[in-house]
Amino acid sequence: MSTRDDIPSETMPVLPLKQVVVFPDVHTSLLVGRPRSLAALEATQSHAGLIFLVTQRGTDRKEPGPEDLYEVGTIAQVVQTLRLPDGNIKVVLSGQQRGRIAQWEQDSPYIRAEITPLQTTCEHAQVQHLTRTVKDTFEAFQKHNRDIPSEMLLAVNATEDPSRLADMLVDSVKSLRLAERQELLETLDAGERLERLYRALQAEIEFLQVERKLRKRIKKESEQQVREDALQRQMRDIQRELGEKEGQTEIEELNAALSNKSLPAHARSRAEKEIRKLSQMNPMSAEATVLRNYLDCLIDLPWIETTGQAPDLISANDVLDSKHHGLEKVKERILEHLAVGVLVEQMQGPILCLVGPPGVGKTSLARSIALAMGRPFVRLALGGVRDEAEIRGHRRTYIGAMPGKLIQGMRRAGSVDPVILLDEVDKMSSDIRGDPASALLEVLDPEQNHAFNDHYLDLDYDLSKVTFICTANSLSGIPLPLMDRLEILQLSGYTDRDKLEIAKNHLLPKQLEKHGIDDTQLTFTDDALLQMALGWTLESGVRDLERQLAKVCRKVARRVVEMQTDPVHVTTENLSSFLGKKKVDPDLYDSAEAVGFVKGLAYNQVGGCVLDIEVAAVPGKGQLKLTGKPGDILKESSFAVFTYVRSRADALGVDADFHEKLDFHIHYPAQHRGVEGPSAGAAMAVALISALTGLPTRLDTAMTGELSLRGRILPIGGLKEKLLAAHRRGISRVLIPKKNLKDLEEVPEYIQKALDIIPVDHMDRVLKEALATPGVTRLFATYTQTEENPSPSP
Ligand code: ADP
Repeated sequence: MSTRDDIPSETMPVLPLKQVVVFPDVHTSLLVGRPRSLAALEATQSHAGLIFLVTQRGTDRKEPGPEDLYEVGTIAQVVQTLRLPDGNIKVVLSGQQRGRIAQWEQDSPYIRAEITPLQTTCEHAQVQHLTRTVKDTFEAFQKHNRDIPSEMLLAVNATEDPSRLADMLVDSVKSLRLAERQELLETLDAGERLERLYRALQAEIEFLQVERKLRKRIKKESEQQVREDALQRQMRDIQRELGEKEGQTEIEELNAALSNKSLPAHARSRAEKEIRKLSQMNPMSAEATVLRNYLDCLIDLPWIETTGQAPDLISANDVLDSKHHGLEKVKERILEHLAVGVLVEQMQGPILCLVGPPGVGKTSLARSIALAMGRPFVRLALGGVRDEAEIRGHRRTYIGAMPGKLIQGMRRAGSVDPVILLDEVDKMSSDIRGDPASALLEVLDPEQNHAFNDHYLDLDYDLSKVTFICTANSLSGIPLPLMDRLEILQLSGYTDRDKLEIAKNHLLPKQLEKHGIDDTQLTFTDDALLQMALGWTLESGVRDLERQLAKVCRKVARRVVEMQTDPVHVTTENLSSFLGKKKVDPDLYDSAEAVGFVKGLAYNQVGGCVLDIEVAAVPGKGQLKLTGKPGDILKESSFAVFTYVRSRADALGVDADFHEKLDFHIHYPAQHRGVEGPSAGAAMAVALISALTGLPTRLDTAMTGELSLRGRILPIGGLKEKLLAAHRRGISRVLIPKKNLKDLEEVPEYIQKALDIIPVDHMDRVLKEALATPGVTRLFATYTQTEENPSPSP
């Protein structure tokens, strides 16, 4: 079934085509350059513009012969020619009908042949249906293929002729190979062609669908890849900015530090684990900082390194002697302690605890012990520590967690066998945050301290090679369980003579050196040094004295800097021009006698002191008022004294109901805060009785002794301290409890000589000695009686 007018078989020029098959009803534009082809085009003019287009079997032959061409081609009409500047011609052709070469007529100047036109047929039974299907398929195909213009779709839909439809579509199906196209050209049955095209279109659609999916996926993947690349790049930039490099080098440094460090296995494996963790963290994160600090601490800490050889006792002796004046007993005990250390490798013995007022050389002794042992020295201040975590550290989960004082100290020491001074163990307190003393117990216990567990470090740490030394100001503040482990070495205060020696031989040279001057620029007379201790300091130790010396040194250093080169010689005369007004005036109350005023001797944080007690009796209702901030014990003992005086009213010759008519005001001048213990009882009683009876007391006399309710004088502690204090204040007579006589051996002889020391065992004797004589005949009589017949008076 053909709708076309037949074109009779005729001779026409032949144009061989390379790589292309032209179909009827299709407009084609070709570029023509081969001479024979140009000549063929030329010849169309004499053939009514017709030319036979036939495809070359192979592409390579320039001048194809009959055997190189297919037989079936398309008769076409030349629509337009355009000569291009390079000599080629662009020609637009319109396909007319299939044709077959019937007779080859000539080869040149162009190929000419006799062409038999071919009629297409349409014998397929369901060609209508097929046409519809192909059109639909093409529409679907067009949706997948953006290259096909919508005009093409319109044209296809408008075409009813199946043969024409098939010929129109061939060009759109790019997947068809040349041979397949040629086959389609040679297939005359339109139905068959449509069927083949349908299959080709389907395949193409499938292909396009897959391709699209693939493209989509690739696009997505590549987008993702691009995004990832970009992010990576950004991240690298940011990290570079923020020190990723540092992070890397830091890990390397940590690894290097770790491999150079001697560590026990458990600590090493922990360190390795934590470094691995760190390497996976963002170096800028807070966790990384915490972990880094932890690793620094772990690696920095000494685990195995030791420094000390066995101490050389002779040189230890030299060190102690050259650096510390006096303190013979203490030095001896320290040397014994060191000797045990030489014989027994691991010291299990008690821990030395140096107890004494501030400035008596506890810290410096400990430092000398370390020096003598050739060990590093670390001081841990425990004063005011109330939280167990300060000893044992905070767990790392706490913000700002740190290791405890012990581990920090070990880190500073840099070896596992330092001397650690636990300073002021008596000043620790405990509260809800745990008891630091119990943590300290573990530290000091040789059974436990080889595996000390700091919360921060979270690894067993061996403290057993550490030499611990404790200090305290007073025994009373040391937690009892701790006391068990300690061997107490008491350092009492210094006498004026000691102070002079210490100032001359130790403090002054130290301060001169510290201030960059020497003994040609600054000298002191002994008297000036002594005056300094007496008039400008009020202490058992020499800390203040050292401060005063430093003050003078500073002034002289300034003069040196200001080019005033004449040497300075400090004497008692010019002392106050350096130090200002005297701070302590021994003559404060120094008239010969006074009513209601007594000098007691007491003991406080800074050692012995003279406690001035004033009592006034005024009309009232028997109230006892205490001022001057006395401590609890002092208050209690005031009440005890009051009771005693009431019980003795008769003997004392005062009205039995005095307590109902009078108020008593006891004042402790604020000079001496923090007095401990009841040892001022006797003195208080004297003051009260003096106020009550109007009998004056002797102000050259000071006294110490606890008073029992029955008038007995009980022994007191710290006799040496108290006598030193009395001597410092220029007191000449001292009453002490008889039971304390044995303690006099500790008191330097020159002090004993300087003081008139009177032992007493009963209040009556005290009154006899303490009250100015003229008024005490009556009381004296009482005393004689009680002394001869010491039955307790009520
Ligand atoms: P503490 O620890 O008892 O409070 P320090 O050890 O800090 O006392 O001593 C204070 C100052 O007094 C230090 O400079 C110390 O060298 C010096 N010092 C104390 N006692 C003596 C002494 N016996 N010999 C030499 N210097 C001493």
